[in-house]
Amino acid sequence: ILEVRGLYKSFGDLQVLQNINFSVQQNEVVCLIGASGSGKSTLLRCLNFLEIMDSGEVILQGKQVNPNKDRLNKIRQNIGMVFQQFNLFPHKTVIENVTEAPIHIKKVKKKQAEEDGEALLRKVGLREKAYEYPSRLSGGQQQRVAIARALAMKPEVMLFDEPTSALDPELVGEVLQTIKTLAKEGMTMVVVTHEMGFAREVADRVVYMHEGKIVEEGSPLEIFEDPKEERTKLFLRSML
Ligand code: ATP
Ligand code: MG
Repeated sequence: ILEVRGLYKSFGDLQVLQNINFSVQQNEVVCLIGASGSGKSTLLRCLNFLEIMDSGEVILQGKQVNPNKDRLNKIRQNIGMVFQQFNLFPHKTVIENVTEAPIHIKKVKKKQAEEDGEALLRKVGLREKAYEYPSRLSGGQQQRVAIARALAMKPEVMLFDEPTSALDPELVGEVLQTIKTLAKEGMTMVVVTHEMGFAREVADRVVYMHEGKIVEEGSPLEIFEDPKEERTKLFLRSML
């Protein structure tokens, strides 16, 4: 459903991504793992055109995306993204955060957007917080609002960039559980994570990156139980 071919990206002299070929199929959950600085965030950001790639092409639903011609808003409607920092609008209530984009970008009627938004908040277990401000929520709750906000655009694919790494340990579980539920419902997603237990349990496929390249990919069993590459073994040992 989403594919990138021959992706190269550098920042100045620093080559950050080298010949990345990566895809995610409909209903697939791909976990992207790798050391800090290996280029995981940059890869997600290129998929979403938050970064401009030096070369390579992105194919969404069988069509090559042309960022000059296709409107970026349109592309991003189809690719939802959740960041490490939740980036909620602090001066808007939870429900306003969730309905903002549907109302202003998709031109959904306010009442309809609110109904949809409330249903999404129920899904992430926060229906009763709809009229609170983000500052009154825990980090885990804020991140679940950020997930609901991304889902409100009805994306085809969701990209998560270390969605739990800014959270206190006791709040990690509720956010992972929310993502797990989405996975079970068949949401297509790419999750950058340091939570190896989560990757093992939820991923259909695990992709290991090192220094801007994909070193190895396979099922969780293949990657965690029987990695082929020495690099992968070293990385997994360091994560224990
Ligand atoms: P982490 O696990 O720490 O989030 P990562 O795998 O997501 O790491 P990236 O954030 O993609 O890694 O960064 C890859 C490399 O690109 C790093 O060396 C980083 O310093 C560099 N980099 C990222 N963004 C920029 C930028 N805007 N300008 C310059 N260099 C950048
Ligand atoms: Mg990162």
